[in-house]
Amino acid sequence: METCRVCDLPVTNTQVVVSRGNPQAKLMLIGEAPGAFEDEIGKPFVGRSGKVLDRLLESVGLDPQTDVYITNVVKCRPPNNRRPTGNEIASSLPWLQQQIELVDPYVIALAGSTAVEAILAKKGGITRLRGQWQDWQGRLLMPLLHPAYLLRNPSKAEGAPIALTRGDLMEVCSRLNQIKQNSLVSEMDLARDRQP
Ligand code: SF4
Repeated sequence: METCRVCDLPVTNTQVVVSRGNPQAKLMLIGEAPGAFEDEIGKPFVGRSGKVLDRLLESVGLDPQTDVYITNVVKCRPPNNRRPTGNEIASSLPWLQQQIELVDPYVIALAGSTAVEAILAKKGGITRLRGQWQDWQGRLLMPLLHPAYLLRNPSKAEGAPIALTRGDLMEVCSRLNQIKQNSLVSEMDLARDRQP
């Protein structure tokens, strides 16, 4: 990725921003593209949006360092934080596909409409799609509101974007626990079957 020049973004960015968190996590979170701070530091979601994201993850019992692998659809910062173009998204998708295959998560959380459109090819309607499980290539996907949207809508009231996103992450958490329990049961069954 560091030497990729498939689209024109490396002309204006500082560095390629790949990921943070745990590459062996069973939860992967995909956002849109790096912003100014991410471009400077070289990690995704490390600015104000990242702090909101980390607080929300922690509030449902997920450790941002160990329980999740965090990345973006587009790996190089678009100038002036503009939305990535269709060509930039399409150019970056093979990288993202490789990350998904390598990390092999049980659950993928899609933060914001760009991630939803890139992966599910569903245009618009993140407020309609959020909180609804989607099946994609044998994996479970959960669309979420983007943390930058939560920054612009900071109300802590019930039914406000922050509370809705926390509820969606709780749903992710409980599904992860369910899957882990089921795979533990399968492993125990296999071990029992192997006994003479
Ligand atoms: S944004 Fe993606 S496709 Fe474009 S140069 Fe960076 S890594 Fe390559």
